[in-house]
Amino acid sequence: MSLFGEKCARCGTRTRNKEDDKAICEICAQEMHLLIEAGKEALRVCPIDGTTMRKEIAQVVVIDRCPTCSGVWLDGGELDQMRNGAESEALMLMATGLAYPM
Ligand SMILES: [Zn+2]
Ligand SMILES: [Zn+2]
Repeated sequence: MSLFGEKCARCGTRTRNKEDDKAICEICAQEMHLLIEAGKEALRVCPIDGTTMRKEIAQVVVIDRCPTCSGVWLDGGELDQMRNGAESEALMLMATGLAYPM
């Protein structure tokens, strides 16, 4: 291992963090754990067009995104988590108006 660490296998950032013998930065490691957890949840179906939604990570929150209409589903509490964790204005804009009426 070099003095500056190795490149994260996912995003290329230099890191000293390692998992399963692969260099992976702490942010990517956290996201991967979230995705693994999310994979255990039931897949959601888009309420608009019935497409199976994909799990995505946004600011360490798992969201369900529809590949057809780009609609996003947030679990109860996820929007609050995003609000609390939101650092970028862009994310706040993205999060506004995304929750479908139940
Ligand atoms: Zn990374
Ligand atoms: Zn859709």
